[in-house]
Amino acid sequence: MGGHFAALDGLDFPPFEPGTVWLVGAGPGAPGLLSLLGYYALSQADVIVYDALVSPQLLSLASPAAEQVYAGKRGGKPSEKQTDISLRLVELAKAGKRVLRLKGGDPFMFGRGAEECATLVAHGVGFRIVPGITAGIGGLAYAGIPATSRDTNHAVIFLTGHDETGGIPAAVDWAAVANAAPVIVMYMAVKHLGSIAEKLMAAGRPASDAVTVVMHASLPEQQVVQGTLGAVDAIADQLAAPAIVVLGPVGPLRENLDWYVAKLRENSFG
Ligand code: SAH
Repeated sequence: MGGHFAALDGLDFPPFEPGTVWLVGAGPGAPGLLSLLGYYALSQADVIVYDALVSPQLLSLASPAAEQVYAGKRGGKPSEKQTDISLRLVELAKAGKRVLRLKGGDPFMFGRGAEECATLVAHGVGFRIVPGITAGIGGLAYAGIPATSRDTNHAVIFLTGHDETGGIPAAVDWAAVANAAPVIVMYMAVKHLGSIAEKLMAAGRPASDAVTVVMHASLPEQQVVQGTLGAVDAIADQLAAPAIVVLGPVGPLRENLDWYVAKLRENSFG
């Protein structure tokens, strides 16, 4: 391997076979949150198909010989169709390449990783999943918010704020979601936060529940905004994507646990 990948030499990694696809989670933002297996994949790949939220610094670590293909999908902006991306992966693999599909966070967490894998299976292309740190856990940690703590919650719900139609997900049982766990971690929820809040309150969630929004989690420009479920309108104009919204008592724990202070943010890898 040599060069900046020299530290990987001699380690017992699984072979990245030509003609296969590795779906690798890049983590929420800071490049240092990529796994060691993901880093190894970067050293081996012939082509890297990456998403909008993947850090350019991470891509700059790849072997210079690797081709880089952007396949971004951002809510509200015109973007490549999911089927096109999946078929592109098949095509590249069939051409005998080692294909690294680099996705933000964890590939199997609201990232359409399962759909991409299903297409690979249908076309007889072998693949491996390299899990990543999901924004709804690791991103919150960067804001001093634990997804669980013994005093506050014994369960967490992960919810997406919109489905493939772009509206609030139709298949959600709001009464069940509102009452099942003290903590609800929401992805892609900024756009419809007002109507999501209404649905949760109509299902019995108190207006006084804490709403904490972490934007650009794990990056130097990270920002946190706090409000309550009954008054999300009051914070609406301070919110921007990408953001994780967390409902419930873990958010306020950051008053004590916030560790990612301005000084630490000077390190761009984490
Ligand atoms: N697979 C990803 C999620 C993809 S959906 C994961 O496991 O994290 C994209 C959504 O993830 C964004 O709309 C936002 O809700 C969340 N997200 C991703 N990166 C984020 C970041 N750095 N800060 C806050 N939220 C983020």
